[in-house]
Amino acid sequence: MSILGLFSLPVRELMSTPLDTDICLIGGGIAGLWLNARLRAAGFSTLLIEQNQLGGGQSMKSQGIIHGGTKYALQGSLTQAAEAISGMPARWRACLEGRGELDLSGVRVLSQHHYLWSPGSMISNLAGFFASKALRGRVDQIKGKSLPEVFAHPAFKGKVYQLAELVLDVPDLVRHLAELSAESLVADPDPRVLQGADGDIQGIAIEGHLIRAQRYILCAGEGNEQLLQQWGLSKPAMQRRPLQMVLVKGAQLPPLYAHCLGSSPKPRLTVTTHPCHDGQWCWYLGGEIAEQGVEQSAAQLIAKAQQELASLLPWVDLSGCQWQTLHVNRAEPAQSGLTRPDSAYLQASSNGLVSWPTKLALAPDLSDQILAELERQGIQPSAQKSNPSLPRPAPAVPVWDSLFP
Ligand SMILES: Cc1cc2nc3c(=O)[nH]c(=O)nc-3n(C[C@H](O)[C@H](O)[C@H](O)COP(=O)(O)OP(=O)(O)OC[C@H]3O[C@@H](n4cnc5c(N)ncnc54)[C@H](O)[C@@H]3O)c2cc1C
Repeated sequence: MSILGLFSLPVRELMSTPLDTDICLIGGGIAGLWLNARLRAAGFSTLLIEQNQLGGGQSMKSQGIIHGGTKYALQGSLTQAAEAISGMPARWRACLEGRGELDLSGVRVLSQHHYLWSPGSMISNLAGFFASKALRGRVDQIKGKSLPEVFAHPAFKGKVYQLAELVLDVPDLVRHLAELSAESLVADPDPRVLQGADGDIQGIAIEGHLIRAQRYILCAGEGNEQLLQQWGLSKPAMQRRPLQMVLVKGAQLPPLYAHCLGSSPKPRLTVTTHPCHDGQWCWYLGGEIAEQGVEQSAAQLIAKAQQELASLLPWVDLSGCQWQTLHVNRAEPAQSGLTRPDSAYLQASSNGLVSWPTKLALAPDLSDQILAELERQGIQPSAQKSNPSLPRPAPAVPVWDSLFP
């Protein structure tokens, strides 16, 4: 920083000790944690600052599906989103098997497959989808003994398709990525972006320290909006797409990882199943029900979910189950008409980069983009390695445990 830059700092920051690092990341969700591990593996020194708990934003509230794009191909042709995401399951599987860009061996895989299920004659509306050449080899109809337990019931009359997608235990993933980050994680309740005179970032002020880096990466999900304001930028704009998810907890719930097809191109219901701390299981319901249920009271939405499950899977015993809902926003770069963005998003501006993965599954893709951008800008690892003794953030408590303590 120049002498002139130092004069423009508030007194609190002038009094603080400087900490130098190659790359400073703000936000410890999947985007920040994945990227941090990649940067460290590439030899960069990093500091990742988390305001609350690791993964406690969207990441640990996600369903953990490592999409391959099938959901987006429901209209009969592969959209750009499906193209961008189609390579992700293989990337993740390589990491889970210890032969990828990050060693994620040991992370719990909840299901090797996600499924698509049609409750009745709906499949006829989707002839184009199943005829799509790009989907061949990625969607297989399964019957008989291959059916997941929940569909292996004489009353089930629909069709089930196995997707080349997997479902991860995200809390376990976050814990694992936190270990890869080692001493680079920093907890601070209110990190502040210090705006430079010429549109750059002068540093990040945390309690007692001023972090100075070659590049600053905003990967704070919904928090990017406020950080951009501190930086003095009005763009890129962010959008929030709200959801109200439904959680059902019970000891007797069979595992279910599937999109239920409805009459629209979006899944009527997306169900994943998660382990609770007391050995019970939690069904986590998303899809249209969560999008359309945003304005409903928790009681209304729970009643609707109970109706849906009773009509779709009447043989599953839900007696004695506990029910909850969870409001959560998806934070993404703004799109016209609040539509879903197609791919991971990165914008470079001066010495900062702003990012949203838009999907947990796209974290590897986002990291590729950021590493390529750093290379394009000529940013190299330096010899400096800060190893400060600072408070560390802890991983968040899974929502199925915080809502059903
Ligand atoms: C209900 C739901 C289900 C989903 N299911 C899936 C799915 O099955 N598959 C999939 O691929 N994607 C899914 N997604 C999308 C996916 O969860 C998100 O795209 C992804 O988790 C975003 O990760 P992130 O790291 O950008 O943000 P986040 O996970 O939100 O992390 C941001 C972090 O930044 C921290 N932070 C915020 N402000 C500051 C600040 N000022 N200073 C320091 N730290 C700050 C937060 O505390 C948080 O830890 C789902 C999303 C939702 C909401």
